[in-house]
Amino acid sequence: MTDTHLIKPILDYNYPTVASGKGIYLYDTDGKTYIDGCSGAVTASIGHGVPEIVEAMKAQAEKVSFAYRAQFTSEPAEELARRLSEWSEGRWNWSFFVNSGSEATETAMKIAIQHWQEKGRDRKNRFISRWMSYHGITMGALSMSGNILRRKRFIPLLEDYPSVSAPYCYRCPLKEAHPGCGMKCAQELETSILRIGPEHIAGFIAEPIIGASGGAVTPPEGYYQEIKRICDKYDILFIADEVMTGLGRTGKKFGSEHWEVTPDIVALGKGMSAGYTPMAATLVSDKVMEPILKGSKSIMAGHTYSANPQSAAVCLAVLDYMEKHDLVRAAEVNGEYLLGKLQEMAKRLDIVGDVRGKGMLLGLEFVPDVRTKGIFPLSLGVTARVIKRAFDKGLLLYPASGGIDGAAGDAIIVSPPLIITREQIDSLVSILENSIFEVQEELRTEGHLNKAA
Ligand code: PLP
Repeated sequence: MTDTHLIKPILDYNYPTVASGKGIYLYDTDGKTYIDGCSGAVTASIGHGVPEIVEAMKAQAEKVSFAYRAQFTSEPAEELARRLSEWSEGRWNWSFFVNSGSEATETAMKIAIQHWQEKGRDRKNRFISRWMSYHGITMGALSMSGNILRRKRFIPLLEDYPSVSAPYCYRCPLKEAHPGCGMKCAQELETSILRIGPEHIAGFIAEPIIGASGGAVTPPEGYYQEIKRICDKYDILFIADEVMTGLGRTGKKFGSEHWEVTPDIVALGKGMSAGYTPMAATLVSDKVMEPILKGSKSIMAGHTYSANPQSAAVCLAVLDYMEKHDLVRAAEVNGEYLLGKLQEMAKRLDIVGDVRGKGMLLGLEFVPDVRTKGIFPLSLGVTARVIKRAFDKGLLLYPASGGIDGAAGDAIIVSPPLIITREQIDSLVSILENSIFEVQEELRTEGHLNKAA
């Protein structure tokens, strides 16, 4: 008999088999319990095994699961578009449904290009993004991403889009210090636009809070206002990749609200279905849609499963659950509590240099010496060591180092389901502290910490 194999992320690693999930917990087939300290990939916002979602799935499956978008619309898809526009208070009245965050950012690219084409400006078809960013694994999305680890095998195939420095104040790529730096990282966007020529640039894309490539790297006050001002000045669409930050995760409905800016296009994913079905969306403003409505009246994008009624019904049930349990507010209030606990924890440890983020999207950065910062060489695998220790103790965490050796540090994301209680937060932090402490002492024994630390 031929051996058959599931291709897993690491082919020779023996992954545990998940058996079930309830609330913030996952259970494997050996009976081990895990606290989902990162909602998987910052996805399971409402927790696992929510009966209302199972009910909604069943109810929709009994009516119809699939109808092709080129032949039918459906009540759940129409209602989901209406609800997302309501969540955005009318800022984005148009929703294009896809199946993953990568598809959502690629669809954003396509809609941006089409917007300019329909206005007769065909040459506006390039994008600017930032180093330290992740917009997805498909070729277009990867072209806009600054995540070296995920890019490097495919570089010859990627579009050579320009990238600007990230607002990474803890370790400023421009060697400036905020405040007082005049936010040169934002000004770099203007320089880059002028160098290439605004007539060639369709849009600028950014994650409101940088997730997978930095660990909840949060820009200073005023940063996005400046970015938006520059985009508007040169007629460039501002695309917010809210795949991680969208729909409550950061304690606001959309992450960009923290800076009071309105992006032209928004990519959503992850928390939109909270992991109950593959579903994502590209939300578009009236302004961006206008020339398309006057012109071709059709958006050249889409996938077989786009806007399928089954997934739409699941996402509607997730939004209902979020509203019923006031989870955006819970993310804000309990996120502050979690942040406080992590900051206290950091003081008791020698290798936690920075604690950052908003709501329930928080990050920790590890350093060999908190006074001089420094960076652990990638080869030491500090992030992986912390994650492994925590995993063994039953706590799941998300790795977030961008793989730029010597330029970005080791970091993790702590982003539990928004339903987490304070008691559960205390247990999470206690396991996390023990895990980091063990790695710290291991590194000390190996001689990788500053002796005086
Ligand atoms: N954009 C951001 C900000 C993300 O964090 C991710 C995934 O981590 C993506 C896009 C890609 O989403 P997906 O993995 O669903 O394709």
